[in-house]
Amino acid sequence: MKYLSTRGHAARPEFCDILLGGLAPDGGLYLPESYPQISRAELDAWRSLSYADLAFAILSKFITDIPAADLKAICDKTYTAQVYRFARPGDDAAEITPVHWLEAGKLGLLELSNGPTLAFKDMAMQLLGNLFEYVLERRGETINILGATSGDTGSAAEYAMRGKHAVRVFMLSPHGKMSAFQRAQMYSLQDENIYNIAVTGMFDDAQDIVKAVSNDAAFKARYKIGAVNSINWARVAAQIVYYFKGYFAATQSNDEQVAFCVPSGNFGNICAGHIARQMGLPIARLILATNENDVLDEFFRTGVYRPRKAAETHVTSSPSMDISKASNFERFVFDLVGRDSKRVAELWKAVDAGGAFDLSGSADFARIGDFALVSGCSSHAGRVATIRKVFEQYGTMIDTHTADGIKVAWDCAGSVPAGVPLLVLETALPAKFAETIREALGREPERPAELEGIENLPQRVELMAPDVEAVKRFIVERV
Ligand SMILES: *Cc1c(COP(=O)(O)O)cnc(C)c1O
Repeated sequence: MKYLSTRGHAARPEFCDILLGGLAPDGGLYLPESYPQISRAELDAWRSLSYADLAFAILSKFITDIPAADLKAICDKTYTAQVYRFARPGDDAAEITPVHWLEAGKLGLLELSNGPTLAFKDMAMQLLGNLFEYVLERRGETINILGATSGDTGSAAEYAMRGKHAVRVFMLSPHGKMSAFQRAQMYSLQDENIYNIAVTGMFDDAQDIVKAVSNDAAFKARYKIGAVNSINWARVAAQIVYYFKGYFAATQSNDEQVAFCVPSGNFGNICAGHIARQMGLPIARLILATNENDVLDEFFRTGVYRPRKAAETHVTSSPSMDISKASNFERFVFDLVGRDSKRVAELWKAVDAGGAFDLSGSADFARIGDFALVSGCSSHAGRVATIRKVFEQYGTMIDTHTADGIKVAWDCAGSVPAGVPLLVLETALPAKFAETIREALGREPERPAELEGIENLPQRVELMAPDVEAVKRFIVERV
């Protein structure tokens, strides 16, 4: 399998060539030259596979430059009930992503948050950790991952990379701005290759430092600075697997269809659903849910994509969806405009200059129905009411992001054909967002027994002023 850039760069790298990098040289995003088409016979054969075997079957279509036996071993090592162990009591952790039905056969949660950091980022990041280790060892290289986080991504990256040979993680977080639980999750890691740096400033200050270091090409090359951001193709590829798994769990035969509702921010999760559908998975509807940061909902309603400035981004109670520029959206638009990379390059010229584009009235937007995608948005009041309603009606406690998903799924239910089961992707567990659970339910969220009292564990974190040179010095002294 060869990969192309959404903006038309001539090179055609393979999977391992793009695994450790980010954007294509022309600023575009990588996608397969064409999506593998899944035959009915394959779909029938896949229905009974374990998660790890299904992951291997799907990923081996996209990863042709790792020997099959090695890729199989990586999938087996990644997708175990030991790693994804936080399923609800009564749900089968061995399924890795079990379905928790709210209404049997009609409305369910696809549990994607049973991994070590209780959010769906673990689904892809754990695989990424094992792929990084494998490829780096094979090449005799090392990497120093530098990132900034306000919560989910940083912790998922740390738990995926902890103890890995040839990988170090330097993760900046805003001092005092994360919840006690999130701090404990990250800072209690004692692995030697994990460095937490709490910056006395806001998330944007931490993000600016990462950008400044990455823009120093000489430093970046000399100290082998890398990233694990959401545009990484391997993360999208890993996420395709659970759409198939969810489909098999929700249907009896491959003649049936399914619908998914996806709480969205950077368009990474739902991009994987879009690709699963392009591969031939019978998905009747993909429902995209946003919170108050509704830039994507606006596009699907109007055809206008108008990324917001940082200052226009709302700080909400579903913080992992507080995104004003959806970094993976370019992948979808590439398909929407018939894979015309010149067109994509033009559209993003406007976006990268801080502007917007308008596809309304275009032949491309007229074809949007072909992609089965609809959208809606939620709000703080909507989340709180939904958490309450789901708890009262079904006895199930959900987190704020999943609540945005259920709220929008209810709003968009009319777009799902009768008799088609609807799965809402559960992107985090409520334990991570205690404040809003207290507001909605007047009680503390459920927390897996293993994580009781993690706030009391010793923490390993460096406190630092938001100073680029100080961060560089810190890295230099440790690599
Ligand atoms: C990252 C994240 C999202 C958004 O996913 P995207 O791939 O960025 O669309 C939603 N919910 C939670 C809990 C997340 O961590």
